[in-house]
Amino acid sequence: MHRYILIIFIFTLDINANTLMNPTSLSKDLYQEVILDDNYIDSVDHPNEFLDFDYATRVATPEQITSALKSWANQSDRLKVIEYARSHENRPLHAVFISSPENLKNLNSIKDKISQLADARITNDRKAKTLINELPAVAWMAYSIHGNETSGADAALGVIYHLIASKDDDILELLDDMVIIVDPVMNPDGRARFAKNLEQYRGTAPNYDDQSLIHTGDWPYGRTNHYYYDLNRDWVYLTQPETQGRVSLINEWKPQILVDAHEMGAQDTFMTGPAREPINKNVDYDLIKWGNVFAKDQGNEFDRRNWRFYTGEWHEDLYPGYSFYVAFRGTLGILYEQSRMAEDGVRRPEGTIQSYKESVHHQFVSTMINLDTLKNNSKSMYEDYWDGRKYNVSSNSKYSNRSYVVLANDNNGRINALAEKLKAQDIEIYKNNKPINVSNALKQNGVTVNEYTIPTGSMIIPNNQPEAPLVSAILEFDAEIDDEVLIEEKQKRIKNGSSIMYDTTAFNFTMMFGLPAITVPQDLKDNLTNWTPSPESLEINQDAVIWAVDGKDDRSVAFAARLLEQNVQVRIIDKNSTLSGHDLSRGSVAVIAMDNPSYNNLHKTIKTVATDLDISVVSIESGFGPKELPDWGGRHFRLLKKPQIAILSHSGFSSYDVGVSWWSLDHHLGIRHSQLNSSLTGYGDLRRYNTIILPSGNPDLSDYAKNMLMDWVKQGGTLIANNRSTRTIISSDGMGSVKSLNTTFDKSKSYNIDLMREIYSLEDNIDISDANDNKVDTEITYPWETSDVTYTKEQLEMRDKWQSTLMPSGAIVSARADSENWLTFGAEDVVPVLYGNYPILMTGGNSTAALRIGELIPNKDSKTKTINWSQIPSGYDLNVRMSGLVWPEASQRIANSAYLTREKIGKGQIILFSGEPNFRGSARGTNRLWLNAVIYGSGLGTNPLVNP
Ligand SMILES: [Zn+2]
Repeated sequence: MHRYILIIFIFTLDINANTLMNPTSLSKDLYQEVILDDNYIDSVDHPNEFLDFDYATRVATPEQITSALKSWANQSDRLKVIEYARSHENRPLHAVFISSPENLKNLNSIKDKISQLADARITNDRKAKTLINELPAVAWMAYSIHGNETSGADAALGVIYHLIASKDDDILELLDDMVIIVDPVMNPDGRARFAKNLEQYRGTAPNYDDQSLIHTGDWPYGRTNHYYYDLNRDWVYLTQPETQGRVSLINEWKPQILVDAHEMGAQDTFMTGPAREPINKNVDYDLIKWGNVFAKDQGNEFDRRNWRFYTGEWHEDLYPGYSFYVAFRGTLGILYEQSRMAEDGVRRPEGTIQSYKESVHHQFVSTMINLDTLKNNSKSMYEDYWDGRKYNVSSNSKYSNRSYVVLANDNNGRINALAEKLKAQDIEIYKNNKPINVSNALKQNGVTVNEYTIPTGSMIIPNNQPEAPLVSAILEFDAEIDDEVLIEEKQKRIKNGSSIMYDTTAFNFTMMFGLPAITVPQDLKDNLTNWTPSPESLEINQDAVIWAVDGKDDRSVAFAARLLEQNVQVRIIDKNSTLSGHDLSRGSVAVIAMDNPSYNNLHKTIKTVATDLDISVVSIESGFGPKELPDWGGRHFRLLKKPQIAILSHSGFSSYDVGVSWWSLDHHLGIRHSQLNSSLTGYGDLRRYNTIILPSGNPDLSDYAKNMLMDWVKQGGTLIANNRSTRTIISSDGMGSVKSLNTTFDKSKSYNIDLMREIYSLEDNIDISDANDNKVDTEITYPWETSDVTYTKEQLEMRDKWQSTLMPSGAIVSARADSENWLTFGAEDVVPVLYGNYPILMTGGNSTAALRIGELIPNKDSKTKTINWSQIPSGYDLNVRMSGLVWPEASQRIANSAYLTREKIGKGQIILFSGEPNFRGSARGTNRLWLNAVIYGSGLGTNPLVNP
């Protein structure tokens, strides 16, 4: 029997071998140029030794590159390999230091000299001159931060080998004069994902069609890291381990150039060279000058080889979170964008095929040419660098009389996170130990206050310090953009809605973090101590009746979530309170001993959770709240429900928003949840979840699947949607009463009356003089009647069509929070929100707005004004723009619309975010609202379930 099966098996194999035809051509034969020239010492293994194909004809996996580095570290004295981080999937990230053996022995002393040159407060001109004479050139060469842009890392493999094995005198001379740090694979998890796709979609014949799966790969694609983060937007936000490790080492070394090698569209050519406008004004102009020098040498070499290329074009440099954050620290950033050839090559419109090997060769040659340019100009570049460093700390620079202040705040979790980001960039931060009076303080909403007192315990960041340009770039409320650029941008917008802005136009850290801050036109220096986090106190008494964590701190949500996961009954106090002398803000988390009669060692569980989160806990001996304040048996101590969370995922969803939602649950909360393939919605068992998250996207949800979701909501589910998924919900029938602005113009007056009710209900200054009149007053004025401007449906439609072309592409606008809504626990009265071309939400019916666009600023002289469908009541102005490019037309369009809505439907609810509240893991202000929704939603917004 066994023998019989074996014979069949062999026979089958044979048939298969015969049916697979030999390919008609091989991509490795398409390109005959030599990358590695063969003039190498024998003791170092050729890259082919580590690959199962000829070098540069296919994509090397991260593991293959790592094994080459490990072997080479033993074979050569021209390199030193440092592991600077581990990815989420536990792959190592390496910085390969390559230089002469002599220089490699002295790395510490070289690094020390660079540090001295970087600080003009401890170094004078004469000393600087000596340092510049002694210092070798330093280059940081980094590749393939986007994992599916593969050719860079393959070039890096060849570059390392070439530098450590070449017998060429030029190379030996180069190594005498330079320390070259090669960062070969900046995103190993993304590269591994794409390499797996290549393996899975490989057939026998080479495929040159850039639309086929072997070229595109599968959702979520190889561009991003494990949590689908674009690592090339993370260089100042520093949320991912790859970036954290890398930035720490780059900042230690302060290289003269940083090359960041990418790929772009397959049908493109090659781009390098300095950015076009808008360029962030904090970048030293010398760097743009040097950028042109490098681009010219590189272009000449491409010309000589008959390779096509261009410079500038779409490459702009306003956003400081690219790899070019280094520019703010005095390093020249150089971008490579090679057209993407995957591994078989790509057929172009003219009929030619560009091979993968050629794309690797472009990256290789670019690298070698840039190193050569640096070798020739290193001393002059150091001199310019030194001038820049002197300017940053001089008493008459543009940075000299300016300080940024993050106002003292009880949200320790958030402010500590901000402090860590700043410190990682060598930014010096301080704390004031007594109040400081200042003049002309500029607030985040653009209002200047003549006399202002900075409260004790604020975070003070003088701009006058060695890293002044970076301080300014991430803390100034607005990045300056030239008039010509603004005019061009507006023309493009009006013409066809296109934009010359490549990324967000606002990135102010304090606004992203939702922390109130001011800018002061003076160099604050006196009575400051170095910033240290406020100490947390763990006051956990075994016989307390209540243990509580203040709701102001973002980590309180994680505290509640982790206890709920361990089946502890947890309550939330939905109103400011005072218990046993402890002030607790609304949203404070309370664990009541009596709620958990059979829970053993509850205080120990609480202690473990609080210790893990490093958050203060208070023990309360009595549940009595003085006077009107909540008491523990009253309705303000609301029972939470253990969240059972699902994130819908895969095709149609934005991988970024899925990834950051997933990361946020893992990173900010650390609790269990499931990521579901959205196709499961129609047939899966949704009863397992009480909270379902729809990240932004255009998921292909059938009507049947939508009905299933709505049935689940009506039975008590909490459905949370972001941005484009919100758009899907508001444009679907039967999914609640929140509407898109452009479908409401025939009812605009009714929406305005609802808005006026919302605003006037919060007004303290209500005229009650006629409350006891018996006679009907015929002279009453109503809010909407004090302005004689109203717009017809047609006028509103025309305005909207025009305004819709001018929507912001990532700017920060202000939103006023409903302080009685549980979704806004922990939030300030005004929350800065990142805004783009988002759905404009109109609440009606049962739905309410927890966050509405625009800060109402008192102005007693102001009369009622009409903007589009809504009004600004008399006595107020409305501020919308906070930072970045928001055209006034866009401000009008989004003013008074909702950013965050909640609607009870059946026994459950739908919560909608207009934007992406977790943007890049750094929109901490809106992230808190999202965490509230996810963790508190099923307890606070739905009918409680009683198990009979
Ligand atoms: Zn890229």
